[in-house]
Amino acid sequence: MGEMIRSFNWSATALGNPDNWPLPLRQAISMMFTINFPMLICWGEEYIQLYNDNFRPINGVTKHPKALGGSAKDTYAEIWGTIGPMFAEVMTGKTIGFPDFMVPLDRNGYLEECYFDFSYSPINMEDGQAGGVLVICVETTDKVNSINTLSTLNNQRLAANEEIKAVNEELASANEELAATNEELAATNEELAAVNEELGAVNEELGAVNEELATTNEELTEAQTILKRNERFFRSIAINIPDSVIMVIDKEHRYVMVEGDLMEKMGYQRTDYEGKHPSEIGQTERYLASKHLYDRMMSGEKFSIEHTSGTGEYYIVHFVPLRNEAGEVEAGMVIAIDITSSKQAEEKSAKLAAIVESSDDAIISKTLESVITSWNDSAQRMFGYTADEMIGESILKLIPPDRQDEEPRIISRLSKGERVEHFETKRLSKDGRLIDVSLTISPVKDKQGNIIGVSKIVRDITERKLDEIRKNDFIGMASHELKTPLTSLNAIMQVTSAKLKHSNDPFLASAMDRANTQVKKMTSMINGFLNISRLEAGKLLIEKEPFDLNQLLREVFDETQLIVNTHKVRLMQSGVVNLIADKDKINSVVSNLVSNAVKYSPRGKSIEIGSEIQQDTVVVYVKDEGMGINPQDLPRIFDRYYRVEGDDTRHISGFGIGLYLCAEIIRRHDGKIWAESEVGKGSTFYFSLPLA
Ligand code: ADP
Repeated sequence: MGEMIRSFNWSATALGNPDNWPLPLRQAISMMFTINFPMLICWGEEYIQLYNDNFRPINGVTKHPKALGGSAKDTYAEIWGTIGPMFAEVMTGKTIGFPDFMVPLDRNGYLEECYFDFSYSPINMEDGQAGGVLVICVETTDKVNSINTLSTLNNQRLAANEEIKAVNEELASANEELAATNEELAATNEELAAVNEELGAVNEELGAVNEELATTNEELTEAQTILKRNERFFRSIAINIPDSVIMVIDKEHRYVMVEGDLMEKMGYQRTDYEGKHPSEIGQTERYLASKHLYDRMMSGEKFSIEHTSGTGEYYIVHFVPLRNEAGEVEAGMVIAIDITSSKQAEEKSAKLAAIVESSDDAIISKTLESVITSWNDSAQRMFGYTADEMIGESILKLIPPDRQDEEPRIISRLSKGERVEHFETKRLSKDGRLIDVSLTISPVKDKQGNIIGVSKIVRDITERKLDEIRKNDFIGMASHELKTPLTSLNAIMQVTSAKLKHSNDPFLASAMDRANTQVKKMTSMINGFLNISRLEAGKLLIEKEPFDLNQLLREVFDETQLIVNTHKVRLMQSGVVNLIADKDKINSVVSNLVSNAVKYSPRGKSIEIGSEIQQDTVVVYVKDEGMGINPQDLPRIFDRYYRVEGDDTRHISGFGIGLYLCAEIIRRHDGKIWAESEVGKGSTFYFSLPLA
């Protein structure tokens, strides 16, 4: 018996003194204390409870401190309805088991789910009647737990299995479908194989065809390249023909190609035309106007027309039928060229030609090599040669032998871009006559300004020359005739003034002086006229002799001092300047310059005469403080009969021959004559002569 049971006061219980307990009960108790697992004995009709220490925590016994020795009916009163009948059944001799019954046990400080196999078996008395119930609890927690784990795993496996099954089922159906599809495919494959075979055959044929095509393609590519190149050529040709539009049209008058720099101006848009009929792009009106021309071209006629646009441009339009190899017209090419500028130039040159032809002057053009390139009617009238005879000939044919050197001089002046105006000379006519002419020659330049030729206007001045000769002859004659009485008058005056020198009448002496001055003026004037007529007749003789130029200047100065008291005349002295020249004529040059200085400057002004050696020449100057000369008149004052026209000069008498004579005299001495002047400030006249 166990200590707990022994020490318990059993006498108070229904079981009474333990020594009187029946043997089967005592045996069961001793077994209970030897066995290591929970055991409970419920004895007698009251099911008095006896249990070992292992049983204490189980089934809530611990909650019932009075369980030991107490009736099970009391301890489990709450659930006795369930377990009472079960106990009663065991008491009939049956053994009942509750496997894996869960009992929550506080083992490690918290309630744990513990499992036990409960077995309820009868404890039989000697008579075979059950005296009590033996409850044995064998813990199965570990087993249950492992079973639980296993079952979870199993469940998972099962679930997985289910899924696998489902998947398998799906796979199976998919497989079935696949099988069906495969079958179909197999059939299709067979068909494909057959088709493939056919294709193979076709491919072979195609291969052959391809080879043929390859060669054809090569030919085509080549043809296309050529076509493209030709198109490019066409376009660049068209675009590079200035002021033009070129178009190609087919037999139905559809545009094949349009190109040219005038496209836009003529209203063609490149994108508009390709492959289109003029009526499709809103050019019906224009088309109808030209249709008859297209028809003519398509019928094989090649022709050109001139056309004036509404805006005044001139066009030349060429219609060219384009033929194929068989010679049939396949397309047509229309070339429109704007000829407005050349038309205008043509009109201009027609006008010019009319002017040239109707001119009284001979108008001749020639190359820089003097070859005649044009010859007008007047040239024919003047020289007697026809244009046919002269064009291509040298101009030298017209120049007298003694003047042949003029031509190179003229050409060299023109080459510098200069114009030769009113150059008076003589030319030869076909019948050998010498004609007096005045030439105006200008360079002919191209657009870039290069001199490409020469134009020559030849004026026949024979008549004028004859007039001049007549006039000169008259002046010469008159002067000559005047000179004789004047010489006598001069002599008489000299004698008279000598006689009157001592007269008591002072008026007479001064009157004689003034008369003398006037006679001198008249003499020099008549000498001038004589010189002019001599000069014109080529009879102005230069008679050179050695003399001192400064001596001559002094003489002129002295003489001026005598006559002129209105101006301050100065002589700038220098040493001896030896010259070999015509003394009288040089004297008349200086006198002329001095008398001009007096004539063209106001009273009281200074006049300076002087000379200066410059290298191998001597320069004589006459400087005044007079009215001066305009720059435009300055180059012409040495011309014959040239006089400056103006309010200042109107009242000053003169013939415009003084400076002309001076220039001629200096020229014949191989010298130079020029003037510098400023209007209002004065003029300085210079001439230079070579030193001896
Ligand atoms: P003229 O008989 O008219 O003086 P010249 O041949 O001597 O003829 O001179 C030509 C022209 O030159 C003159 O008409 C005059 O206008 C101008 N001229 C000449 N010398 C001078 C001068 N010293 N000052 C201003 N003008 C002058």
